[in-house]
Amino acid sequence: MSHAHIYAMSKRLCGHIDMCSFSSKGRSGRVSDVLYANATVCDECRERICRLVNKPGGGFHPVVLPALAGRDGAVRWAKNLRLRALRMLGPIMAQLKQSPDPFAAAVLAVYEMLFKITSSGFWIENRQFSYDRVWVVFEVEHLMRPRPTSTVRLNSSSAFVYWSQADLSVIAAAKEAAHAVIDVDVVPAVAEASEPTAPKQAHFAPSIFL
Ligand SMILES: [Zn+2]
Repeated sequence: MSHAHIYAMSKRLCGHIDMCSFSSKGRSGRVSDVLYANATVCDECRERICRLVNKPGGGFHPVVLPALAGRDGAVRWAKNLRLRALRMLGPIMAQLKQSPDPFAAAVLAVYEMLFKITSSGFWIENRQFSYDRVWVVFEVEHLMRPRPTSTVRLNSSSAFVYWSQADLSVIAAAKEAAHAVIDVDVVPAVAEASEPTAPKQAHFAPSIFL
């Protein structure tokens, strides 16, 4: 049975309205396509989030790392894996800290949720994982949703999913940190650097290394 490929304007999680393609079969398929569109950000916001984690500079964002839980050997292994992730993400976090984009605070909150994870098993299970921009968009969307959605698959590399099972206060803190893109009709555009103290992107503060 062939089915039509429909394009329609749809309101996305970020409040922007864009053209979505609806291709799932039948009425229930169409409903789930609409729900998916409503539960994800528009292409422009997706690209905006991806740009934020691209090409970090030389800065480094200090992170307090909690003690890990697990057997001795697992803890040792997980510590190394976590440190490797921090070396990779610390410069990106420093860059986010400097960005006037309201999405930057949300992405930073996502990374901070990640580094609060105390389960050695999480780090070991995700040892091949790079917490890349696809993951970042996914996590920011999780954070932005007013309620959990069944249209998006949950996965074991998600810091949001981890904390929604372990401690909801961590999610609440992250949502608070990301408030500029949550509970708003439309995610605001990048703020203009209008403050007199913030001219064009000049030199960053001296970097802090662990
Ligand atoms: Zn958008």
